[in-house]
Amino acid sequence: MIIVMKPNAKKESIDRIKNLIEFRGLDAHISAGKQVTIIGVVGDKTRLQDQNLEIFEDVDRIVSVTESYKLANRKFHPEPSIVKVGNVSIGGDSLVIMSGPCAVESRDQLLATAHAIKKAGAQILRGGAYKPRTSPYAFQGLEEEGLKYMKEAREETGLPVICEVTSLNAIEAAVKYVDMLQIGARNMQNFYLLKEAGKSGLPVLLKRGLAATIDEWLNASEYILSEGNPNVVLCERGIRTFETATRNTLDISAVPVIKEKSHLPIIIDPSHATGVRAYVKPLARGAVAVGADGLMIETHPNPSIALSDGPQSLTFEQFEELVNEIRPFAALCGKKI
Ligand code: PEP
Ligand code: MN
Repeated sequence: MIIVMKPNAKKESIDRIKNLIEFRGLDAHISAGKQVTIIGVVGDKTRLQDQNLEIFEDVDRIVSVTESYKLANRKFHPEPSIVKVGNVSIGGDSLVIMSGPCAVESRDQLLATAHAIKKAGAQILRGGAYKPRTSPYAFQGLEEEGLKYMKEAREETGLPVICEVTSLNAIEAAVKYVDMLQIGARNMQNFYLLKEAGKSGLPVLLKRGLAATIDEWLNASEYILSEGNPNVVLCERGIRTFETATRNTLDISAVPVIKEKSHLPIIIDPSHATGVRAYVKPLARGAVAVGADGLMIETHPNPSIALSDGPQSLTFEQFEELVNEIRPFAALCGKKI
């Protein structure tokens, strides 16, 4: 349920309602817009059954929220959220590009990549230190050693860094070295991990599960938000369909759907969506056109010897070309790189 206050409602009126909600054992989430304040109620609303909140001073109307996700819901928070990662804002008027290798393989590989993507215009460095590979025999990541290189790359370039976490141990290690946690597609419904990421204090990039509906994805984000962490960014990375020409099928419609249903920023990862280097640039253009707040793109100094996801990784030259090519598209859509 949400309580929509009248334009320019008095602070005392808002506080009176907030106090009543909390007194009844529910949570009140205040979203103060430029003119209108909204109070979102989370919890068992039958506890407010005997209260006609509509007669309270400065209340405009009560709207029930039928969706199971509340804090992620646009009805709770009509203004789009802006998530800060270091000095970078995701969800505003910038198109934020995260780039880097699928896996951190060595110090040299990561530092070379960090410098190259920064020069090309990327704002955040990505790199996997814990790799959730389909095969248990495939390279599983450098773990804490990889995180140390991420931190060093941040110190050298000033770029904030993001790394995927796959367990509580990984979260405990990552918070010492990185600026943003990534929850990968395979862990989107690992509710224990989501809660721990919520408690970490770091912003979280939540990738869409391989076969997750948008509703399930937003409920997954609710697990992070409900731990008191408002800094969640969604990432569409393709879903499983019958099509085999690409690794996954990029659900480009997820962007306008999420924008309607939620206030959370959403970025697109055309690398994992396609699995094919040649398709990354056209889909990056599509992502910008449809209103994504950013892109995640895999790059590698030499994709032919990459330990993971080489076929979809761009060389530094290809990445620079991509950024230069999408710059005017971004400007057309009101976003700057
Ligand atoms: C990744 O970003 O390297 C990754 C494993 O992505 P996803 O979880 O989307 O497969
Ligand atoms: Mn990858």
